[in-house]
Amino acid sequence: MARYVFITGGVVSSLGKGLASAALGALLQARGFTVRLRKLDPYLNVDPGTMSPFEHGEVFVTDDGAETDLDLGHYERFTGVPARRTDSISSGRIYMNVLEKERRGDYLGKTIQVIPHVTNEIKDFLSVGDGETDFMLCEIGGTVGDIEGLPFFEAIRQFAHERPRGQCIFMHLTLLPWLAASGELKTKPTQHSVKELRAIGIAPDVLVCRSEQPIPDKERAKIALFCNVRPEAVIPAYDLRSIYEAPLAYHKVGLDQAVLDAFGIAPAPRPDMRRWEDVMDRLENAEGQVRVAIIGKYTQLEDAYKSIKEALTHGGMANRVGVHVEWIDAEIFEREDPAPYLQGIHAILVPGGFGERGTEGKIRAAAWARERKIPYLGICLGMQMAVVEAARNLAGLPDAGSEEFDHEAGAKRFTPVVYHLKEWVQGNHRVERRPGDDKGGTMRLGAYSATLADGSRAAEVYGGTKIEERHRHRYEVDIAFREKLEEAGLRFSGMSPDGRLPEIVEHAGHPWFIGVQFHPELKSKPFAPHPLFADFIRAAVETSRLV
Ligand code: GLN
Repeated sequence: MARYVFITGGVVSSLGKGLASAALGALLQARGFTVRLRKLDPYLNVDPGTMSPFEHGEVFVTDDGAETDLDLGHYERFTGVPARRTDSISSGRIYMNVLEKERRGDYLGKTIQVIPHVTNEIKDFLSVGDGETDFMLCEIGGTVGDIEGLPFFEAIRQFAHERPRGQCIFMHLTLLPWLAASGELKTKPTQHSVKELRAIGIAPDVLVCRSEQPIPDKERAKIALFCNVRPEAVIPAYDLRSIYEAPLAYHKVGLDQAVLDAFGIAPAPRPDMRRWEDVMDRLENAEGQVRVAIIGKYTQLEDAYKSIKEALTHGGMANRVGVHVEWIDAEIFEREDPAPYLQGIHAILVPGGFGERGTEGKIRAAAWARERKIPYLGICLGMQMAVVEAARNLAGLPDAGSEEFDHEAGAKRFTPVVYHLKEWVQGNHRVERRPGDDKGGTMRLGAYSATLADGSRAAEVYGGTKIEERHRHRYEVDIAFREKLEEAGLRFSGMSPDGRLPEIVEHAGHPWFIGVQFHPELKSKPFAPHPLFADFIRAAVETSRLV
C-alpha cells in the first residue's frame, strides 16, 4: 500500500503548489523511494483538451493519450516518471462518470448525492495503482474554500480516515504577505487558511509558507502554535532563481525530512542529491547565451508553451549555454519583413497550434530560416507549415496549404498537402474518426512509434532509428506529395511503422532544419535533455559563432 501525501493550497492561487509537489517527488526519489504524482482539478471541464491555451496554458499529453493539466509536465520533468491517464482528474470527469453510472442504472435506483457517490468516485480514482509505488503525491487544484473543490477535500479527508493510521499526511501551502509599511511578515492569512481546512476535518501535518522575506524563528514558532503544526514542519519557501533549484532549496529547509517525520519513517534513508547538483551546476555555470525565437500564436502567455520553454532550457544545459527566448507573434510576419525581428537570432522554433490565424507568418518564418540557413525546429503545426513552405516555394505548388484552414473557412482554397486523417493504426488496432465527432479528444493522441531513415540527420540526432514520441493533432502531411517534395529537397526522414504517416521531415543541405509531427518537448527533462532540443541548441551555438 502506498503512503499518500495530499497537497492543498490556501490564501491565494499560484503559490507554486505544483512545483512544491514535483520537488517533493524528486526528493523522495533521491532517498530511494518510488513515487507517482497526481492532480485533481476542481473545474468542470472534462479535461483541459478543449480549454484555450490563453485560459489554461499548455495541454500536457501523456503516453497513453490523455490531455492533462500542465502540472503533470512539471511532475514528469522533476521525477522522470511518465504520467498516465489515471494521474489527472477534474470535477467534470468525476461527475460525468457518476452520471453515466446513474444512466446505466448502476446505482439501482438510489438517490445520487455528492456524499457518498461523488466522493466515492474520487476515492476510487485515488486508489488506482496504489500498490505500485512507495508514495502517491496528490495535488488538489485551487484553494481551500473554493466551492468547486469541496468534494475533493471531503474525499481526501475520508480517504485518510479510512486508511490505517500513519498512511496519509496533509501538506498545505500558504502565503506570508510582507507589509512594507510596518516591516512585518503577516501570519494571519495562514492561520485563517488552516482554520478553514480544519473546519472541514483536515489538519495539516506540514505547512509550506511562501514568503519574499526570511521567516524569523519567532514567526515560525507562532505559526506552529496557532496552526497546530510542529515547528520543524513549518517550511519556508522563498523565491528561486530557477524552478530547478526547488529540490535542493526544499531539501535545505527540511521539506523531505518533515514529510518523512510526519510518516514516522526513521531513520530516514540518506538522500543522494547529485542529479540536482549537476542540473544546477549546468544552469549556473553556463557560458554565453544563444537567442532562440519562438514564432507562435499564444506568445502573450508563456505558459501556453511551457514544455517547449523548459525543453529549450534543457537543451541549453546539455550544451552548457544559456538560452534566451524571444517571443514573436507570428501574425507580425504577415504584415512586416521578418528581418529586423530575426536579426541576431541564432535559431527559430515554430511550435504547435490550431487554426489558420498566424500561419502565413509561420510559413514566412520557415522560409526565412531555410533561405538564411538558420537552425529551424518545427513542432506539429510548425512542421506542417514547413512542409507547406517547401511545397509552395520549392515544389511548384503555389496553392499548397492545410485542409484544417479550409475546414475552418468553409471554402476550398488550398491544395491540401496537409489533410484531415480519419483512420490510423495505433499499436495493434485501427482508430477511426468521423468528421462530425465532437471536439474533445478526437485527435491522434499519445505515444506512437516512428522509424527513422538510415543516414538522416534525425537518426543521427536520436542515435538510432526507432523512436517513440507523443502526438496531439488531427491533420497529417499527405504522402501523395512525398515524391515531389523529396525531389525538391525536403526529405521524409521519419515515418510511422506502416509507412503512411510522415513523422519527421528535414532539408538536406541545410545545417539544421527539422520538422516533427509530434511533441518532443513533452519528454525532455533537465537531467535528460531531449536529443532534438540538445542538438538544436548545439546548432544554435554554432550559428552564434558565425554571426
Ligand atoms: N492543428 C494541427 C493539427 O491538428 C497541428 C496541431 C498541433 O500543432 N498540435 O494537425
